[in-house]
Amino acid sequence: MPATWAASALPWTTRCLVAVVTVVAGAWAVLAVPRLVASDAALFLLLVGAAAAAVEASRRIPEPSGMNANDMLAAWYVPVAVLLPPFWSLLTPVVLMALTQWRVKRIDTFKRVYSAAAIGVAHAAASVAFSALAGRASGDGLLPDTAAGTVLAVSLAAIVAKALNTLLIGLAVKTADPESRWREVFVVGDGRLELIEVCAGVLVAVAVSVSPWMVPVALPPLLVLQRGMLYAQLHTASRTDTKTGLLNAGAWERDAETVLAAGHRRGLPTAVLLIDIDHFKAVNDVHGHLAGDDVLRAVATALRAQLRDGDLLCRFGGEEFAALLPGMDRSEAVQAAERLRAGVAAVVTPVAGAVVQVTVSLGVSVADAGTADPPSLSELLAVADAGLYRAKGSGRDRVGMQTLADRRASS
Ligand code: GH3
Ligand code: MG
Ligand code: MG
Repeated sequence: MPATWAASALPWTTRCLVAVVTVVAGAWAVLAVPRLVASDAALFLLLVGAAAAAVEASRRIPEPSGMNANDMLAAWYVPVAVLLPPFWSLLTPVVLMALTQWRVKRIDTFKRVYSAAAIGVAHAAASVAFSALAGRASGDGLLPDTAAGTVLAVSLAAIVAKALNTLLIGLAVKTADPESRWREVFVVGDGRLELIEVCAGVLVAVAVSVSPWMVPVALPPLLVLQRGMLYAQLHTASRTDTKTGLLNAGAWERDAETVLAAGHRRGLPTAVLLIDIDHFKAVNDVHGHLAGDDVLRAVATALRAQLRDGDLLCRFGGEEFAALLPGMDRSEAVQAAERLRAGVAAVVTPVAGAVVQVTVSLGVSVADAGTADPPSLSELLAVADAGLYRAKGSGRDRVGMQTLADRRASS
């Protein structure tokens, strides 16, 4: 058994799901083996060849570990589903997942097997749905046998495939990690990448239905699109703190500079908060570092929940967070800081055999509206840090203030 086979460590629900979906995919493939039609086999080879070129091209793009990149392969699965009988939809992901495992990145074998089974079942179902919608002979489908009817049928089939695949993968993630949230399991980011992937699948399927010669025409722009999407995901990943999912300090500082300058131009105040978990070392010492990480994530979530959409929140480092609140003057900023403090204090995090509650201390600083000599971001951070130091010194679990005038007078 390969060393990377780690399925035995999974909960029984996940193992059942993986087994059922894999058996369904395998049985469906065996029962659906078609009488070999030379033109079908040729089209399959052409589409899989193009998809293999896409897999090969993705090797040259760095992928941060742990990232489940959207690689646009659906653009090739959808035409297989629409133009060929279901059997080929079950076979295609087996070839492509094997190729990905071999050439791009080795991950746990069962994950690749499950991906291939889930993609196969989803697209075989899409293939069946397409046949029912568009019909095999003219006039026997549910939708009219017109160009518009065909485009609609291809689109619905692509949506069926995407929805079913997302459901199967999401169920596996959720059963393997019951703590994960349903929303995060099914929606990665804002769903734009999924929409682009579905559209690309429809485009290629309709184009190739006109002529197989459209495969070499579609391949170059799709490789560029794939590269663009991978870079977009890489860019997001490079801005994100992996532990909490918040912005990281570097990305926050860049965005915060821009928002601060915009506030000054528009004559609006801007507040900066530094937030530090109290006695966090003790949490690690008593409950362990992993429990500490859970608490860190819970604090991040509580802070995010208390802020508005336009506020910028980041993990500033260690057990410290920073927030930039556009348009907030001094009294509003202190109120916001109080709200954050109370919000965190109310969070109860279950850790192995216990629960943990922590408090935070906050430092506040404000760039007042309409001053001739506006503070820089680093000045605001230094003032907030001095406020935080005061809050720690006077007992923690509180909000500390220093003003820019104090700091400028003392330096
Ligand atoms: P204070 O109230 O003065 O802030 O006390 P503190 O214990 O929170 O502060 P100190 O700076 O002494 O310790 C910070 C602790 O935060 C030590 C470090 O191990 C822990 N820490 C920093 N980053 C992480 C992390 O990512 N995960 C975990 N579990 N702990 C972290
Ligand atoms: Mg601390
Ligand atoms: Mg600290």
